[in-house]
Amino acid sequence: MKKVHNFSAGPSILPSEVIAQTAAAIQEFDGMGLSILEISHRSKNFERVMQEARDAVKEILHLPSRYEVVYLQGGATLGFHIAAMNFMKENGKAVYANTGVWASGAIKEAKVLGTVDVPFDSSSSNHNHIPEVVFEGNYDYAHYTSNNTIYGTQYHNTPKSSVPLICDMSSDIFSRPVNAEAHALIYAGAQKNLGPAGTTLYIVDMEQLGKTGRKLPIYMDLKAHVEKDSMYNTPPVLAVYTCMLTLRWIKAQGGLAGMEKRNHEKQSLFYSELDRNGMFEGHAVPDARSWMNPTFRLVNDALTADFDAMWKEAGISGIAGHRSVGGYRASMYNALPVESVQVLVEVMKEFERIKG
Ligand SMILES: *Cc1c(COP(=O)(O)O)cnc(C)c1O
Repeated sequence: MKKVHNFSAGPSILPSEVIAQTAAAIQEFDGMGLSILEISHRSKNFERVMQEARDAVKEILHLPSRYEVVYLQGGATLGFHIAAMNFMKENGKAVYANTGVWASGAIKEAKVLGTVDVPFDSSSSNHNHIPEVVFEGNYDYAHYTSNNTIYGTQYHNTPKSSVPLICDMSSDIFSRPVNAEAHALIYAGAQKNLGPAGTTLYIVDMEQLGKTGRKLPIYMDLKAHVEKDSMYNTPPVLAVYTCMLTLRWIKAQGGLAGMEKRNHEKQSLFYSELDRNGMFEGHAVPDARSWMNPTFRLVNDALTADFDAMWKEAGISGIAGHRSVGGYRASMYNALPVESVQVLVEVMKEFERIKG
């Protein structure tokens, strides 16, 4: 296979051994003489997968026993509404920070159920920074988006909150140590740092759940899923299996400290070059820069075709920016090796040498 440096924003790169193990399980799973695609989710073999996939999350995040983990479907997009349904009281009120497209998607879904205040908003500067966020007041819960995948900004500390705190962690979960215990709920679509598209991870503090007085449709009720060990209905079997393999890989790499080291090296390599190289400029202000999704553009747009030809020639894939920011976005999720960032940095240097 041709070597491709995969900077895709999502679905995105997974560890090559995870891909290989997934491919093998599609051929034959667990010595059963069957593909993982054709076994019952109620089989002992899959029950073990689900158990490990849930336990590994608790272990990696050092969660106390009041937390539970479930894998559902519907993406983070359904998560926007599930979060609100499980925490917004009847005629309730929540507070949100709007730091981009996904944050505003979450706000929209919460407004279906109650009142939403948005005292923190970075839209006037096309979301190039993270506002100073402190959640307080008479709210059922507070919500933020830890990493703004499209704009390339990231909270570098958990915001302070005096109300139950909810986070959409879709694009930076497991990328470095995090104060998970500060949260009532964390949710994340799998397809950025964890596995294939098709499952969404929910990590919930059971002591803060079930206080809304709402009657929920069963699939929207996190409590119902926890009570059935994330097997209320047929789970996305293959996606959960691949997540479990990625979680094993994270543990083998030294857990979140190992991920932080790996990701720190990549982001520092990239941003040092961005700051040094006069041909490029970043979108995010330096103190809000994302380790996962650096966004940048050419100072001289007229050279776009030249730069594009160069990175394509180097085997780089997936760095076209999102239409709402333009330019480029080099997503550097956990699985991306540092060598891929080195290749991108070399291309940037060469571009400066030839066209600067
Ligand atoms: C990708 C992404 C989403 C959307 O996820 P879906 O699984 O497509 O619904 C939401 N929030 C963030 C932060 C994302 O990066």
